[in-house]
Amino acid sequence: MPTQLGEKLSKKHVLVTGGTKGIGKATVETLMEQGYFVSATFRSTEPDPALKEHSNLRTFRCDVTNKEEIERAIAEATKEFGPINYLVANAGMTRDTLLLRMKEEDFDEVIQTNLYSAYRLTRAVLPAMLKERFGRIIYISSVVALMGSPGQFNYSASKAGLIGMARSLVREVASRNITVNVVAPGAIDTEIFRAAGEQRTTSITQSIPSGRVGRPEEVASLVGYLLSDNASYITGAVIPVDGGLAMGI
Ligand code: NDP
Repeated sequence: MPTQLGEKLSKKHVLVTGGTKGIGKATVETLMEQGYFVSATFRSTEPDPALKEHSNLRTFRCDVTNKEEIERAIAEATKEFGPINYLVANAGMTRDTLLLRMKEEDFDEVIQTNLYSAYRLTRAVLPAMLKERFGRIIYISSVVALMGSPGQFNYSASKAGLIGMARSLVREVASRNITVNVVAPGAIDTEIFRAAGEQRTTSITQSIPSGRVGRPEEVASLVGYLLSDNASYITGAVIPVDGGLAMGI
């Protein structure tokens, strides 16, 4: 029988970064349907006006590479809906090129966006979770963290780093009813995937046992499950959503 810890909260408040497009947007929609109070951040993609009308949703502009913007977004979100008990660190980017052509800026920007941001976000929301003795943290990684990928020396490092961070944090906070899990999407039909170009996306798609790319909602539904009370004993897991692309790794 799962404990109903989350249900006891006065408000189930989730922060989703990069929540206005792709996987983040699908996650926001899924979580709103599930009754969460949702704070969604965006950098350049303005929120869909239809989404903005929802009374359980607030959107905040926040570049996740900027410490002050993260702190401001969290402070404003907390003012709206109370402490953040659920975090989905989703915002991410690629800057693909072969290692010998990869400039320090290419490496640094990807690490700052995909990895360093998760450190800052977690650091900022953790005190309230510890105080409540409840929390759910999800990092959106990638199967590339496990498989490697040519041209993604920087991206795979950032996504693998999330796994180490999640598992270290589990060892610090699991006894406080805080779970930390990693979702590892394979090829999902969003801008970041399409940016790899037709030749590469076709070749990746051909290697997926399911024979197709995934939909953002297929990642969002796993996130919804991992945040739920039904997943109270799942922590430190790295769960692929990939049509079998990385199975066995
Ligand atoms: P999208 O390109 O559709 O979305 C990327 C999101 O990240 C956008 O919301 C974007 O915000 C946000 N973002 C990027 N840089 C920053 C920044 N500096 N500050 C704030 N937000 C930022 O791709 P996905 O939806 O697919 O990507 C979501 C996550 O899923 C990423 O972490 C990605 O690495 C991961 N992933 C995706 C896979 C795929 O095949 N699609 C496979 C494996 C992992 P904005 O548009 O407002 O600038």
